[in-house]
Amino acid sequence: MPIRPENRWLYPIDWQQISETVRFERAGARCEQCRRPHLRRVAHLGDGRWWDADAKCWRSDRGKRVSIKGGFALAAVRMTYVVLACAHLDHDPGNSAPANLKALCQRCHLMHDAAEHRWQRWWNVFRLRALRDLYEDPRITRERIRR
Ligand SMILES: [Zn+2]
Repeated sequence: MPIRPENRWLYPIDWQQISETVRFERAGARCEQCRRPHLRRVAHLGDGRWWDADAKCWRSDRGKRVSIKGGFALAAVRMTYVVLACAHLDHDPGNSAPANLKALCQRCHLMHDAAEHRWQRWWNVFRLRALRDLYEDPRITRERIRR
């Protein structure tokens, strides 16, 4: 996941090296959650299950071998290009302790960050409303502002 420019200063100067060590040396260029391989196109069913072409088996979103009971519709199979990123488990870019870092594919990264993203959206709306309450004249209705 790309680093936002406003957050760049939160990361250590050797972040690129730390990230590469986690993704390639420790994780072996595979997602540490679901085992999807870096920079490969993989077939998946949209629910986390994906085809591991190297091991010739389906895997779950936890990387475990699974059998697809009852088969699946070929139309349900989608392709995705996997790119690993190094995620901070506590969402703090200043905490680069190895136990706080995990090599994650886009899907696992988004799932991991979902709660944090929800909270961030709420916080942004809260801040905007607080600013509006501070600077908006309550005697002027929204209708009058629009005109
Ligand atoms: Zn993954």
